Amino acid sequence: MAPVYACSPRQLPVVYHPLYSQLVLPPAHRYPISKYQRLFAHLTEDLTLHQLSDTTSIAPLRVFTPTPVRVEWLKALHQPAYIDALIHNRLPAAKMRRIGFPWSQQLIDRTLMSSGGTLRTVELAHEFGIGIHLSGGYHHAHHDFGSGFCLVNDLALAAKHALTLDGIDTVMIVDCDVHHGDGTATLLADDPNIITFSVHCDKNFPARKPDSDIDLALPRATTTEDYLSAFGGILHLALAQHQPDLVLYDAGVDIHQDDELGYFDVCTQGVYKRDHLVLSHCRQAGIPVAAVIGGGYRSDHQLLVNLHAQLIHTALDVHGIMSSHRL
Ligand SMILES: [Zn+2]
Repeated sequence: MAPVYACSPRQLPVVYHPLYSQLVLPPAHRYPISKYQRLFAHLTEDLTLHQLSDTTSIAPLRVFTPTPVRVEWLKALHQPAYIDALIHNRLPAAKMRRIGFPWSQQLIDRTLMSSGGTLRTVELAHEFGIGIHLSGGYHHAHHDFGSGFCLVNDLALAAKHALTLDGIDTVMIVDCDVHHGDGTATLLADDPNIITFSVHCDKNFPARKPDSDIDLALPRATTTEDYLSAFGGILHLALAQHQPDLVLYDAGVDIHQDDELGYFDVCTQGVYKRDHLVLSHCRQAGIPVAAVIGGGYRSDHQLLVNLHAQLIHTALDVHGIMSSHRL
């Protein structure tokens, strides 16, 4: 039975660590590693300026600093030999290429911290009804290999962690990143208490898409209207049928029409409406939400950050902390 949150938190719990962006990549690398630091700076500046107009208010965000995930927890989810090889730089070159990052100690440090951050976000959602991680969503990490910029699967790990918390018997992962949540689907295929739901583009990475509990595959060039209509309908049914005690929401913005790795035709306001759909539906149903920012790929990192920031503005709106949404 989910706890019912009669009132909103006075501040929005967000989880962030500077390590998220502390990774030196080759110059032409397409991963927007700076987006985490830029998003945090953007929110701090934007929301502090906003606050100046109302001197009676307190800061709308409460920032929590995570700790690195424990390696034994990773080994309980992934193949222990894979985790050992990953951490100690003993993976074959082909396996590192599949991940898409060159090995470095920084890479391992940020990965462990980021997974710890998603776990912390779940705990905050359990306590406050909402928690937002300014990282996370590494859904292409499988049992014994990583792929598509994902080394370990923070979503699967956090879903299992959620089941250890009081009153949480069923978790639903709502994965709205434009890419299919293949690693999450395979890692959790045998867990009846975790419902995996992926809405994604049918012709995009990964080529092989193992079954989630619920898959909504939409064609390339799907419009805002079609996306929201299809997703909203399935979300409503899925929540009604499974009645999860907590939702883990991957709010990837690579569904946007200008994303460089996505093929949908969803506009900026459409991304906002999708976030609003998930957060407001869960809020009304009394279901806590732990959200991660997920994927998003634009050469212009500031435009990308503006899209990710919408998730925080939506949460502030939905939870009645601050009406701050501006497109
Ligand atoms: Zn993605």
